Amino acid sequence: KVPANVFEEGWLARVYREKPSNVPVRTRFPPEPNGFLHIGHCKAIAVNFGFAKAHSGVCFLRYDDTNPAKEDEIYFTSIREIIQWLGFEPYKITYSSDHFDRLYQLAEELIRRDKAYVCHCSREEVNLQRGGPDNRGPRYACEHRERPIEESLAEFQAMRDGKYAPGEAYLRMKQSLTDPNEGNPQMWDLPAYRVVEKNHHHRTGLKWKIYPTYDFTHCLCDSFEEISHSMCTTEFQQSRVSYDWLLEALDFKVPKSEERGPMQREYGRLNVTGTILSKRRIQMLVEGVTVEKKNSDGTVVKKIIPPSVRGWDDPRLYTLVALRRRGIPAKALLNFVEGLGVTDALTEIQTTRLESSIRSYLERSVPRLALILDPIKVVIEDATEADERELTVPYDPKRLIPGERQVKLTREVYIDGSDFREEDSPEYFRLAPNKTVGLLNVPFAIRAVSFSKDSSGRVSEIRAVKSEDKPKTYIHWVDVSSAVKVVARQYYSLFKTDSPNTLDWKEGGWADDLNPNSEITFKNAVIEKGLIDLVKLHSVHPSRASDDLVRFQALRTGYFCIDPEKEHDNIILNQIVSLREDKSK
Ligand code: ATP
Ligand code: MG
Ligand code: MG
Repeated sequence: KVPANVFEEGWLARVYREKPSNVPVRTRFPPEPNGFLHIGHCKAIAVNFGFAKAHSGVCFLRYDDTNPAKEDEIYFTSIREIIQWLGFEPYKITYSSDHFDRLYQLAEELIRRDKAYVCHCSREEVNLQRGGPDNRGPRYACEHRERPIEESLAEFQAMRDGKYAPGEAYLRMKQSLTDPNEGNPQMWDLPAYRVVEKNHHHRTGLKWKIYPTYDFTHCLCDSFEEISHSMCTTEFQQSRVSYDWLLEALDFKVPKSEERGPMQREYGRLNVTGTILSKRRIQMLVEGVTVEKKNSDGTVVKKIIPPSVRGWDDPRLYTLVALRRRGIPAKALLNFVEGLGVTDALTEIQTTRLESSIRSYLERSVPRLALILDPIKVVIEDATEADERELTVPYDPKRLIPGERQVKLTREVYIDGSDFREEDSPEYFRLAPNKTVGLLNVPFAIRAVSFSKDSSGRVSEIRAVKSEDKPKTYIHWVDVSSAVKVVARQYYSLFKTDSPNTLDWKEGGWADDLNPNSEITFKNAVIEKGLIDLVKLHSVHPSRASDDLVRFQALRTGYFCIDPEKEHDNIILNQIVSLREDKSK
């Protein structure tokens, strides 16, 4: 079945038709540079860049950098790299802060048009004016709303010049607070400018003590960049009215018309259950946290929760840097997100659904190699020199993936601990004393004759002979003389529960639900020497410049990639996904 093109039919196609056809398509992806992007953002990127591409338009990357207290250089760089990794090139990279001067001028203009005022009410007072805690009470104006234009102008300049501390003055838009028929809270005199305490901005330095809000900034920056379709998630549905209100108030848009100025439309978020995506929660996993818990007798106990993952790119997380490090191909991720489609409804998926989609992508695209996670040496006692050879084995038995590798065979091979049993039984088909098993791609089968154990009681060596019996099954193996030692890591869910978002994130209860086996490391794993050839091949012909990971299917085990780091000179392998869904957990 050919998936529907999300840009040619359905929600996105309707949005496209809402604008006159002579308006060039210009979109933007507008992240706040205050964290690493996660899998949900991948949808926003695919929608905005994809929409522009589908309609021969352009897409901006706009850093929405209006909150200096939370921004950091590392996020700017990471966001840029991840977009590139996903295969998109911004038409231009812009910053909301590029426009701080113009925004300030427009704020003054808004005051002059009697559509904004400086207000000194406290947060509690403003909440009351807006109908109280449930927004349902009567609404009313404060005395500042009707102050003379000149006074607001002077006070706004005083805000700019540092006269006020945070919370002492706001510029508020004069919307419809006092209209009893206006039911949309986004129209109840939203703040446009605020005084910020920690006000060192990474681009404008200490120039500004006041910063514009999202509601003031976003629609105006869209106008400056001549954005045609400003697509965002449905939490902003109610903001569409205030978006248009401000643009109309400043003549950037004609009321009830899409002829001129940008147009906001809202699509459903992508949520992934079985993991967490919230910045604050991931941060607790990355950095650890000290929580305070109040007992019933009023005493407070402090609990120190250490970091639970190695960093923001730990392969167990669903940030895009983590998915990249885990080895998920960018193309597989995009296929998946596009396959889910775009509507205005929330899309909830399970991590297992993503995994199965990645599995079917990798099945058609990566070579196969033998990896032994838990090696036991097998000595084939009667193998002669004539049996020792180099086998030529295709990367894919069905030859869908081109190429082949040299596999060495000598009289000593490693097999996996899980493929041997000390005691045979009739329903068991792999290796056991007196039982015959086939070795994949080897012309003869083997039968175990004896085994020995080390001091800890673990089987350390199996003696075997060539066997004429027909094997019931074939197992994978790696030649001892040419084996490459590697460290292999498998990843499982970080939490025992399927819905970690419902855990207690306030008082640290989530820490009790961490899965102690979310990462399993095989320190003594071995892989066939073909991995080294694959690495060499890859360095000469990287499959894509932006994605230089070596990936393969480990026979009977899972899909793996080579991690960018090493452990004591040994290659580290990350399991991307298992070969089949593990139904046991
Ligand atoms: P979060 O709160 O989840 O960390 P955010 O909304 O603060 O994310 P922004 O940097 O504001 O992140 O997001 C940039 C763009 O990505 C916005 O247009 C936002 O609507 C969109 N976006 C964020 N999360 C999702 C999601 N889960 N699904 C689809 N789009 C998303
Ligand atoms: Mg945000
Ligand atoms: Mg958000």
